[in-house]
Amino acid sequence: MEPRRLRRYTTFKVGRLTCHALEAGTQHLDGGAMFGIVPKVLWQRRAPADDRNRITLALRCLLIEHDDGLVLIDTGIGNKENEKFIDIYGVDNAGQSGRTKLEDALGELGHGPDDIRWVINTHLHFDHAGGDNWIDPAGKVGLAFPKARYVVQKGELDFARHTNERTAGSYLAHNFQGVPFQLIEGEAEILPGIRALPTPGHVPYHQSILIESGGEKACFVADLIPTSAHLPLPWIMGYDLQPLVTLETRRRIYQRAEAEGWLLVFEHDPRVVSGRLAREDKGFGLVEQQVLG
Ligand SMILES: [Zn+2]
Repeated sequence: MEPRRLRRYTTFKVGRLTCHALEAGTQHLDGGAMFGIVPKVLWQRRAPADDRNRITLALRCLLIEHDDGLVLIDTGIGNKENEKFIDIYGVDNAGQSGRTKLEDALGELGHGPDDIRWVINTHLHFDHAGGDNWIDPAGKVGLAFPKARYVVQKGELDFARHTNERTAGSYLAHNFQGVPFQLIEGEAEILPGIRALPTPGHVPYHQSILIESGGEKACFVADLIPTSAHLPLPWIMGYDLQPLVTLETRRRIYQRAEAEGWLLVFEHDPRVVSGRLAREDKGFGLVEQQVLG
């Protein structure tokens, strides 16, 4: 029997802006690394591990139908990696016609790569910016969205270009070399209603994207809270370069998210697309969850 196919996108409204969470495939990362100091006996209840101790993670991107054109936040892993990489990280993102499931999801919404006007990267790790460009069947690498303006934090591009032994595995130069980035610094309104919020800790110049319209707000939190299982304040990834900075960033963001009723959109949660933060007896939980099914 064919496994039931999960849907490729989830549509929701923020005020008068229509947004689509796009499923750009999955990857499988070490569960211990994903949950930092949290013991496996606790995290495995929320995220079951496979026989290589890896957990399933979504590669979810966000498409916003904006008056200035289509805006895409993050681009998944792309199609440039070799077999060894695909095996180690358990990447399942191949789409039709040699591109990725991101382009398939866009296609299902009636859009082609040329229709994207803006690409915003939360940061330049391979599972967030790998699909900024693509390798064509002739082996030539070009922009995946040739008519888009690409936006990233200036500090992040510098940081990605100057790696060390600890950071090199996540910043692969072929993902950002030759991408004509428009650089922003700190908090910035990229387009009316689309705002970059510095949310450091995972990496020093990580940004989340806040969408506001008609008094409603949604936030694409990226690796600040990769899955809904990471909502408890100390459930911080082992990958984070500055875990104590992540902790304080979360404390600050949770306060605003709760006060202003933000819809949080999770880039890596394999099941929960989004939800609103709610205080529970011991910490934070989610209400109004949208799940894939
Ligand atoms: Zn990352």
